[in-house]
Amino acid sequence: LETKVVEAINGVKIPQLGFGVYKITKEEEFAKAISEAIRIGYRHFDTAKIYGNEEALGREIRNSQIPREQFFITSKVWNTDHGYEATKKAFEQTAKKLNIDYLDMYLIHFASPNYIESWKAMEELYLEGKIKVIGVANFEIQHLEELIKHSKIPPMINQIETHPEFPQNGLHTYLNNHQILHEAWGPLGQGNKTLLNHPELKKIANQYHKTVAQVILRWHLERGVIIIPKSSNPKRIQENSQIFDFELTGDDMEKIDQLNTGKRYSINPTGYIVNP
Ligand code: NAD
Repeated sequence: LETKVVEAINGVKIPQLGFGVYKITKEEEFAKAISEAIRIGYRHFDTAKIYGNEEALGREIRNSQIPREQFFITSKVWNTDHGYEATKKAFEQTAKKLNIDYLDMYLIHFASPNYIESWKAMEELYLEGKIKVIGVANFEIQHLEELIKHSKIPPMINQIETHPEFPQNGLHTYLNNHQILHEAWGPLGQGNKTLLNHPELKKIANQYHKTVAQVILRWHLERGVIIIPKSSNPKRIQENSQIFDFELTGDDMEKIDQLNTGKRYSINPTGYIVNP
């Protein structure tokens, strides 16, 4: 699989295309999807404690017999594990479940209370070499400002809902200006039909003999955004990886920018306390 890498501020290389494992719940389906993704060449996987599949992901990585260093593994601190001690403990549990001794990336899942104390634990784990890239998810500008004000090491990445209907233009510019990477969750708008059947996107897709999903993923790449599309369908897993052999023009990008409706799936991060 051909993929580009983007560099975090500390020089760590992150494959720009990864694979999200949220809601692939059935054990058999999970093993099939992940082993297929690894076979195709995906090496970057995004999980979280709350997804309940860290152990299963660790198992597939080991079963692949590919050296661990060739993978880029992300997990996240859940809302109920905020605070210095709790975050340290959560990290140890996550590492144990994944059966690895370092994480490539560890993110604070939501800006729920006490994230400043959690960040202190993340900074220490980073300095000990147990996490290569530390960051956050679902943070808005005010949370980032608050975190930066109270930290020694600023967050290196923010994973946020991003797709053509909700491109996060304001936050995108803020992140660029602060050398914080932008990672998209829900890069395909969680597969919603309005987006995936959009006539404007279909027109662009036809020009390149690509699918609408591939055009959307390419739009993210052109913006410098890291993507982690999820699928458990082998055909789509492959399809989502074939996005490095074409480019969108400035004109295509502008057309896609017009699809911004402000429609988002996530609720306000500060209001998002325990259950996903
Ligand atoms: P997504 O945008 O990746 O959409 C996934 C859905 O799109 C699939 O279930 C399928 O229905 C459809 N799909 C996938 N490939 C397709 C294709 N080629 N053609 C047509 N339809 C296709 O949404 P997501 O799963 O919510 O997000 C991706 C990953 O982001 C998750 O798996 C998870 O790892 C992460 N995530 C993080 C947060 C967070 O709060 N940090 C929240 C949600 C998701």
